[in-house]
Amino acid sequence: MTLRPGGPVVVVGGGPAGAATAWALARDGEEVVVLDRARFPRDKPCSEYMSPQASRLLADMGALAAVEAAGAASLAGMIVRAPSGARIRGEFAANHGFRGFRDRGLALRRRRLDPLLLDAARRAGARVEEGVRVTGVETDGAGRVTGVRTLDDRGAERVRRAGLVVGADGLRSVVARRLGLAGRLPWPRRIAFVAHYAGVAGVGDLGEMHVDGDGYCGIASVGNGETNVAVVVPARAARHAAGDPGAFLDAWIAHRPHLAPRFAGAERVSRARATGPFAARARRAWAPGAALVGDAADFFDPFTGEGIYAALRGGELLAPYARAALAAGGAAAGGALREYDRARRREFGGKWAVERLIGAAVAFPPLMNHAARVLSRRRDMADLLVGVTGDFVPAREVLRAGFLLKLLVPPRAPRLPSVEAAAEPLSAEP
Ligand SMILES: Cc1cc2nc3c(=O)[nH]c(=O)nc-3n(C[C@H](O)[C@H](O)[C@H](O)COP(=O)(O)OP(=O)(O)OC[C@H]3O[C@@H](n4cnc5c(N)ncnc54)[C@H](O)[C@@H]3O)c2cc1C
Repeated sequence: MTLRPGGPVVVVGGGPAGAATAWALARDGEEVVVLDRARFPRDKPCSEYMSPQASRLLADMGALAAVEAAGAASLAGMIVRAPSGARIRGEFAANHGFRGFRDRGLALRRRRLDPLLLDAARRAGARVEEGVRVTGVETDGAGRVTGVRTLDDRGAERVRRAGLVVGADGLRSVVARRLGLAGRLPWPRRIAFVAHYAGVAGVGDLGEMHVDGDGYCGIASVGNGETNVAVVVPARAARHAAGDPGAFLDAWIAHRPHLAPRFAGAERVSRARATGPFAARARRAWAPGAALVGDAADFFDPFTGEGIYAALRGGELLAPYARAALAAGGAAAGGALREYDRARRREFGGKWAVERLIGAAVAFPPLMNHAARVLSRRRDMADLLVGVTGDFVPAREVLRAGFLLKLLVPPRAPRLPSVEAAAEPLSAEP
């Protein structure tokens, strides 16, 4: 283990981004301390789906077998219902010539997943301290980050020195805010309501997204007989929640004739949680002596369910640049962290563009209805799009003029009967 004169790498936050960063750095011999304000296991509002490519990272971390053994659901693809009722079905295993690390995605409750990821970081040699909240960052006279201030859940305050501080502390990152890096995107302003149910009818091995004029609802098995249900609505609509997210969630579902019958025999088995608004992007993902990763660096909208992959991949991406920064030390370290920021843009830039296109379609029902009309007849295009959200088809495949044009101009080909038939069990509509 490399003991740095400036102190260990302090990773703030032990979610997927923090665990992956800590794992990668500790595996390479760095002294790493992870601080999380929570005590694990804990729930986190999330739809809890992981793309096929996330399995590659889980496998590298030595956590894939444990995630599967914990009862993770296996998902073959996605089905999206537009406000018009038209359905798009896309599967990960398809004929487009791209293959993921696995042909299926996984879904597991975060109270089960996150401790397994932290265990992987511990096995690699990282120290994990739970119940420790970071309240601020320490800087030297030149503005370089030298450590963090903490408050533990017994009320003890401390200053901890760090060779590098990694802000992996999620959407409302204290590290990003204290360093003046946090940035909010003006749009979309959405709030999510998430809970687990038992006994939802018709839940299969496809993740479901039901888009409506006033928001959307994600439904997917997370294994162990539980179904994750997330309703995401514009912030103005969420004002009616009035402190009772469970009632809001139940009422939203009860008002959808295509969903309500499936919940007739269902029971909510976890506390409903609300979170948002979430559209945020740090001005940059580094400052002298510090780097941001995962949601702390950027987050758009949960529709495409890519945050966990981006968090894990972000940690893997950061590690070599962090090591270079530690080796360079002082002012020279900034060069390596600046390179990390550029690498993030190269890695995620295309996905950010696709997310924004999908986000626009979700916000404007006529656009969504049109896209659904086209994609319900073009299974090849739907598979390609689902492959991009599955993180194994390059984003450029769907950003090409040819693909976008086909999406805008309705095809003349007849509707494929198999698409409709496969979608039938999802809806109680006539
Ligand atoms: C409604 C919703 C649905 C989603 N669905 C999906 C999905 O299906 N699939 C998907 O891949 N992604 C999904 N996401 C996104 C995903 O949840 C995040 O992108 C992912 O959790 C990011 O991981 P992270 O490690 O960056 O942050 P987090 O998972 O938020 O972890 C941050 C950690 O930092 C800790 N922390 C925070 N502040 C401090 C502090 N001051 N001091 C110490 N510790 C601190 C927290 O306790 C937490 O453990 C969804 C998000 C939402 C809101």
